[in-house]
Amino acid sequence: MIKPFIPQLVYFEPDAFQYPLGQELKEKFEQMGIEIRYTTSHNQVRNLPGDNDFQKYRVAKSTLVVGIRKTLKFDTSKPSAEYAIPLATGCMGHCHYCYLQTTMGSKPYIRTYVNVDEILEQADHYMAERAPDITRFEASCTSDIVGIDHLTHSLKRAIEHFGQSELGQLRFVTKFHYVDHLLDAKHNGKTRFRFSVNADYVIKHFEPGTSSLVKRIEAAGKVARAGYPLGFIVAPIYLHDGWQEGYYHMFERLDAELPKDVREDITFEFIQHRFTKPAKRVIEKNYPMTKLELDETVRRYKWGKYGIGKYIYQKEEEEDIKEHLYGYMQKFFPQAKLEYFT
Ligand code: SF4
Repeated sequence: MIKPFIPQLVYFEPDAFQYPLGQELKEKFEQMGIEIRYTTSHNQVRNLPGDNDFQKYRVAKSTLVVGIRKTLKFDTSKPSAEYAIPLATGCMGHCHYCYLQTTMGSKPYIRTYVNVDEILEQADHYMAERAPDITRFEASCTSDIVGIDHLTHSLKRAIEHFGQSELGQLRFVTKFHYVDHLLDAKHNGKTRFRFSVNADYVIKHFEPGTSSLVKRIEAAGKVARAGYPLGFIVAPIYLHDGWQEGYYHMFERLDAELPKDVREDITFEFIQHRFTKPAKRVIEKNYPMTKLELDETVRRYKWGKYGIGKYIYQKEEEEDIKEHLYGYMQKFFPQAKLEYFT
């Protein structure tokens, strides 16, 4: 993705205009000459253009819906944080394996919420409940929030909000490099800025519509220089021909391109590839030509929530992945901390 995301079509909930961000976005999109439509609810956008599901899915991925977040009960977000903070839902990226394919079901359009103050107030309640413990909030459970933040600056507000808080921390992960507007945010070290990285093979075949690895690493250098604690999520770790070399090369590039002076506080998270049966159905529908291996018979079944189990790698493969990636991390980033492998 060479240019920052610009929606092709925008829907507004009429109540969104009661908020300054709603007004501001309307003016912005009008000036840009983007078609604006209205919807009674961001949960019910119907009649998207397109002759079939395949086309409608692609149109949805470039449609932005501006609405109000009514449910202010945050989901939990283990293992990386206590709560998921809902600033947006959906993503313009086209990663074949994306978890949003199933969680968003028939609503793959992107939603942004203009009642940011109410969302942040709710975060304050959660922090107060857990005091004196720290409460961590994950902002990328339902979207790649950095990918749309150049339009809304909601993430920037959240970063500054947690920057002022005593017991709150924010984290998010992105595959986009549009970080410049976030560099001067007053984060006070309370936000961990993470980038999703992967072997070339995975990026090339399964992550269309996202920034290149080089751009992501360049952006990582910028945010680390701006004083943000930095992190990398290697996900999904995917077995393919030559995967050991592929991941070694990825670490090698991280090492070669990340400035030496920003390595004091880096975390890694390792997540192996997994899929569920419903996810497999959706992926095969939305990306019928994908090379993504989704064969239940070669995987290990792990029971999951609501009776929907996931297919992960066999025990020996899992050990092999862990050993190799952990080894590479220690070789190139001896000071880094592995937060978890899952
Ligand atoms: Fe999904 Fe992240 Fe890819 Fe967006 S960038 S499609 S959220 S995996």
